[in-house]
Amino acid sequence: MINVDKIREDFPILKRTVHGKPLVYFDNAATSQTPQAVIDTIVDYYSNYNSNIHRGVHTLSQEATDKYEEARIKVQKHFNAKEAYEIILTAGTTHSINIVAAGFTSLIKKGDEVIVSALEHHSNIVPWQMMCEKTGAILKVIPMFEDGSLDMDTYHALVNEKTKLVFCNHVSNALGTLNPIEEIIKKAHEFNAAVMVDGAQATPHIKPDVQALDADFYVASAHKLCGPTGVGLLYGKEEWLQKLPPYQGGGEMIATVSFKKTTYAGLPHKFEAGTPNICGGIAFGAGLDYMNAVGFDNIAKYEHELLTYGTAELLKIEGLKIYGTTTKKTAVISFNVGEIHPYDIGAILDKLGIAVRTGHHCAQPIMDFYQIPGTVRASFSFYNTKEEIDILVSGVKRAVRMLS
Ligand code: PMP
Repeated sequence: MINVDKIREDFPILKRTVHGKPLVYFDNAATSQTPQAVIDTIVDYYSNYNSNIHRGVHTLSQEATDKYEEARIKVQKHFNAKEAYEIILTAGTTHSINIVAAGFTSLIKKGDEVIVSALEHHSNIVPWQMMCEKTGAILKVIPMFEDGSLDMDTYHALVNEKTKLVFCNHVSNALGTLNPIEEIIKKAHEFNAAVMVDGAQATPHIKPDVQALDADFYVASAHKLCGPTGVGLLYGKEEWLQKLPPYQGGGEMIATVSFKKTTYAGLPHKFEAGTPNICGGIAFGAGLDYMNAVGFDNIAKYEHELLTYGTAELLKIEGLKIYGTTTKKTAVISFNVGEIHPYDIGAILDKLGIAVRTGHHCAQPIMDFYQIPGTVRASFSFYNTKEEIDILVSGVKRAVRMLS
């Protein structure tokens, strides 16, 4: 059970006002808010043991190294990776995807096929297009249906012995719809193709078990998990991480360097060139601790209540259309009202203290599918309330009156 009043006390930002109104924060799919425990972790790092890791003999460096490696183990446990060295700490989902896409550039040849879904964020499209341009690989797309689900029959027909890699999000950021990644992975593996799952949107709502899923790669960002920006993870099965070449060269990622020949460090350091976001990594672990203390079963149950309530209340508004109507969804409502531009609704909501996202949500192909310029997206978290949804609904009604 969630005690939302108590939880809200943990988030200082939820006490602030915007344009003189209490903040109603419904832009959680873009970035979640930060609990005091994570803020304290960041302050503690810079106040007490700020230093560079992995190479210092002095106490501060050892303390920072220990905390950073403890954070890696927290991430490993959270995602149930077999080994801690299968967790690469990166700058976030986009960085993680680029590491994999750049690595596959040397593993893929002309005529090989890679498959993407129609529901992707630009960061899970563009790096692969760049990879295809360099290699001559062919990009195939799993189409989507009107309700925001994937056309799985077509997917099954697309996979064949030429397929080398499938990349798909676990949950769509634009619609909140949940994709059948278990089925996607199983089918790809019948043809020995690797699967990379973009978990940026799923991880705030679902605790993924990468071994049970049998995902070859799984990526996510800390800033959607009550952690800071600029840090995330790349999980990769050991065999794949061994096969992929390093993404960046530099300090920390080497075993030996000479002008004749350089050899690379083992996992995970091979992919962690340079000084990482040390404080961010440690705070990532603190964000996961916080969410696990709330409990992902509790989070899923409570957010589902918010989704059901918000969907029913918003649909009472005449002319309001929700995109992504499949029942397999996380707590995201993407909508438009009649012909009103989503930006105009978002700007009025902001004046009422309500933060939503408007636009194409970095998923232009989805907007093209629906032939719309964008949507208004309200995304809920476990610290939101039904009262806040009521404020949103009356705000949308007011915006519609003003704009009609
Ligand atoms: N994929 C999805 C599904 C996302 O929602 C996002 C963030 N909106 C990203 C990738 C990119 O994440 P980041 O900006 O943290 O790198």
